[in-house]
Amino acid sequence: MYYGWIDSYYSHRSSVQAAHSASDANNAARRAENALARLEDALDRQALIIRTLLTACEKAGIFNEDQFRELVTEVDLSDGRLDGKYKPQQGPQGCPNCGKTNGKRAMKCMYCGAVLEPRDIM
Ligand SMILES: [Zn+2]
Repeated sequence: MYYGWIDSYYSHRSSVQAAHSASDANNAARRAENALARLEDALDRQALIIRTLLTACEKAGIFNEDQFRELVTEVDLSDGRLDGKYKPQQGPQGCPNCGKTNGKRAMKCMYCGAVLEPRDIM
């Protein structure tokens, strides 16, 4: 009896699966590239806005670029690390009403409903 069709069937099936996997990988790579392009656009827009604000402050005599750099360093240090980033460490927060611990993103206490202290907006 000839069973070659089994090999042929499984060979075809695995090549179809490989094609699907390659297609999935290509789609994932395309999505990642699109997400990266959107992030780069967002960063470029933010850089434009920051540069515009800095220029407006310089023109208004509020501060110059050197003073702005000093302020950037001060803010950078305010999260405990001079690393060129502002990333405050936000852990769980205690409720001012009942004292129980809530998640770092909670706006209201999940136990008593009290409004929690607003946190940094960025
Ligand atoms: Zn509470």
